[in-house]
Amino acid sequence: MDFVDQPEEGTFRKEVRQFIETEAPKAAKGLSGEEALIANWDENQAWFKKLAGKGWIAPAWPVEYGGAGLTTMQQFVLNEELALHRVPRPMHLIIGLGMAGPTIIVHGTEEQRKAYLPGIIAGQDIWCQGYSEPEAGSDLASLQTRAVRDGDDYVINGQKIWTSLAHMAKNMILLARTDPDAPKHKGITYFIMDMKSPGINVRPLMNMAGSHEFNEVFLDNVRVPKENIIGEENRGWYAAMTTLDFERSAIGSAIGMKQTVESIIEYAREHDSDHTSALKVNPMIRYELTDRLLEVEIARMFSYRVVTLQNRGLIPNYEASMMKLYNTELNQRIARTGLRMLGLYGQLDRGSEFAPNKGRNCYTFLRSVAYTIEGGTSEVQRNIVAQRGLGLPRD
Ligand SMILES: Cc1cc2nc3c(=O)[nH]c(=O)nc-3n(C[C@H](O)[C@H](O)[C@H](O)COP(=O)(O)OP(=O)(O)OC[C@H]3O[C@@H](n4cnc5c(N)ncnc54)[C@H](O)[C@@H]3O)c2cc1C
Repeated sequence: MDFVDQPEEGTFRKEVRQFIETEAPKAAKGLSGEEALIANWDENQAWFKKLAGKGWIAPAWPVEYGGAGLTTMQQFVLNEELALHRVPRPMHLIIGLGMAGPTIIVHGTEEQRKAYLPGIIAGQDIWCQGYSEPEAGSDLASLQTRAVRDGDDYVINGQKIWTSLAHMAKNMILLARTDPDAPKHKGITYFIMDMKSPGINVRPLMNMAGSHEFNEVFLDNVRVPKENIIGEENRGWYAAMTTLDFERSAIGSAIGMKQTVESIIEYAREHDSDHTSALKVNPMIRYELTDRLLEVEIARMFSYRVVTLQNRGLIPNYEASMMKLYNTELNQRIARTGLRMLGLYGQLDRGSEFAPNKGRNCYTFLRSVAYTIEGGTSEVQRNIVAQRGLGLPRD
């Protein structure tokens, strides 16, 4: 890994900075990425259109599908600059951009690429991921949703759970069992399902931070055309694992975490003399803040490692798991430090007039619990690193 920009990366970085300066909406001070995205939805849509016009929604995708054909390293430079300047990023497109799209590029047919990629790149189509079920999470291959061939369609019955964005999505990437007699990894097929199909019932689930992000999805005789299979019938498991590698590569932004630690430090400095900073009564928080700053530098190194592999045309595997594990656990430590810095006031949530920082630290802490579950739990990531990275036998 070379830590200095290559000439074409340096030129590209300048172009990105200039574009942000002239075109981007002004950064919303103090808001998290998610809050900034929602707070100025209309203005942000206009900004995403400008990004799409440059091919910068999915910069490394091939030009023929609407990408800019840039290298993965240039894509990284773009993301880094967007994060550094705190301008909104299209996080609502994450499943299409970071998982469904790349999987369709690798395993899909030419017709599927032409049909689905332009909508993702234009910033219009939100996707969701129908993998988990009530009895199949870490042990995903136990999934029970059934797809039975009927003429040119498959008829799908079953239930998905924890489906992020299903209430907003146009399409779902769906795993269903097509051969119940085969060994469990071998009878699964990977489908693209139109969320407007008759027979789909989406019910909201609220998370413990009080947000509606995920849902239960009930499938009752939903018909999906056979052309919507990604890859081959009964071989969906292998495409699904590609999606998970992409998902884990995309999770966690080292720059975002650094900015969060810096904003905690800034708050502690500004509120040194009032009772909403616990620094005076708990000086150990100083050490915590120093540790968090050191740790975000390590997180940055993990990001560089993954992007370097991607730039060589490789799909990071246990390396993506290492990054996912480290970054999400670090995100939780940062959230805890942020809360401790506020002392007892840290417990006040959004809506309380006494809540420091408008209750954001409390919300971030509550939301951070999910980081080490979504995209595969920390225990599962440790198993992957132990087996595939260290070559240890299965337990
Ligand atoms: C915010 C959020 C968003 C999500 N979004 C989606 C989505 O959009 N689409 C989707 O399909 N899913 C989604 N999920 C579901 C997520 O992928 C699952 O929750 C996750 O894979 C864990 O599965 P589970 O909840 O069934 O827990 P379980 O698999 O039942 O695990 C329970 C506990 O046992 C441990 N455990 C399980 N197996 C092992 C093992 N072999 N070794 C050691 N420990 C083990 C786990 O680490 C965990 O602590 C989301 C989850 C969250 C929290």
